[in-house]
This record gives sequence, C-alpha cells and structure tokens, in this order.
Amino acid sequence: MIGTGILKGMAVTARNFVGSYFEKERLITVQYPEERSPLPENYRNFPILIYDGDDAQAGLRCVACKICEKECPPQCIYIVKSDDRKPDYMGKPQFYPKIFDIDISVCMSCQICVEVCPFEAIKMDKDFELSKRERFDSLLFRKQQLSKSNQYYHKIHPVEAEAVDKNLADAAAAAEAKKKAAAEAAAKAAAAKAAAAAQPSASPAAKAPTTS
Ligand code: SF4
Ligand code: SF4
Repeated sequence: MIGTGILKGMAVTARNFVGSYFEKERLITVQYPEERSPLPENYRNFPILIYDGDDAQAGLRCVACKICEKECPPQCIYIVKSDDRKPDYMGKPQFYPKIFDIDISVCMSCQICVEVCPFEAIKMDKDFELSKRERFDSLLFRKQQLSKSNQYYHKIHPVEAEAVDKNLADAAAAAEAKKKAAAEAAAKAAAAKAAAAAQPSASPAAKAPTTS
C-alpha cells in the first residue's frame, strides 16, 4: 500500500522520541561540551607522530624517509632529515626528522600517510577541538606538537595499537634471530678455517710415486 513505508518510519521516530524520556540509550544528543559521546576506535582527525618510551626525541619512530611527504595528496607535510643518526627501536642507527610539520588547515584526514609509513611512525589522532583564531601559523603543527607517546596511542586506538606493538615485537624478534644465525654461521666458518689451518700438511715424500 502506498505510504506504508512513511508510516513505519514515523512509528520508529515516535517510539524513539517517547522512549528517550525513559531510556537514556535512546537519546542521540548529549549536552556537549559537559557531556561527550565516546568516539569509535576507528575515528580519525589529523596525524600524529608516535614515540616509544618517555623521551619524544630519542624514541621517535620516524626515520625521515619522506615517503609520507611524497604520497600526501595535498602536500601538507614538510620534512627535513637530520645530518646525524640515532638508534631506532631495534638499536639500528637511523636518521630522524630535524623538522616535521603538518599544515592541518590543508590536511584532509585521508590517512594515506599512515598507510604508506613502513615504520608505524605516524598515526591518526582523535582530537577534534582544534579551532584557532589565526588562519596560518597556529594551524601549522610542528614536530614537538605532533609527537605523542605510544601510551597515548594505546589510549585512543587500543585495538590498533596492540596489533602494531605485536608487529614491531615480531619484526624485532625476527631481526634478532637473523643476527644470531649470521653470528653462528660466521663462528662456524671461522672454526672450520682454523681447523683446516691446524691440519699437518702431507710430506712431499709421502706423495712421491714409488719405483720398483
Ligand atoms: S591525512 Fe592525508 S592529507 Fe593529511 S597529512 Fe596524511 S596524507 Fe596528507
Ligand atoms: S612518518 Fe613514516 S613515512 Fe613519514 S617520514 Fe617518518 S618514517 Fe617515513
């Protein structure tokens, strides 16, 4: 019958409207900013840089490879690579960003920088209360402002951060196992070489053919 869908829709609206006076979960609005609805795990706003440990500079995962800078569609990332190196989470010396800026007035929250980063160094923040009076400098986020601890990342994206920690731990364990296997192989080769050098060489007389 024509109009059945409209009547059904109105019945749902009426049920939720009346029900919202009795059941809190039927209320879809909250008294913001005093009340806040929890954000879903995969909510995202602008990128942040993750660091491990307590030191934002020493623990920064970013190695300034600039892949994210190249891939960012609106080109709102600006990176300057360091001249020296610092150890990464596996103890390997790596470059780091001397400068890492993101112009959040241009960023479109596409998350491509996160997808292309091979080092789990850049992730999406959930902070959305970022309005400023000025249009330019205050919306240019610098490295210090972008750097957030892994604990903060766990707080905003617990499931994702857990998976990332596991990937990093697996990669570190695989690298350690490879290093150990290479060291064992080198030790074995050195031992074989030393054993060969210690063998007495056969005397020329013993080798000479006998005549009858
Ligand atoms: S989220 Fe998208 S637009 Fe924003 S910095 Fe990353 S790649 Fe660029
Ligand atoms: S955030 Fe990732 S992709 Fe971007 S420069 Fe740093 S390590 Fe490279």
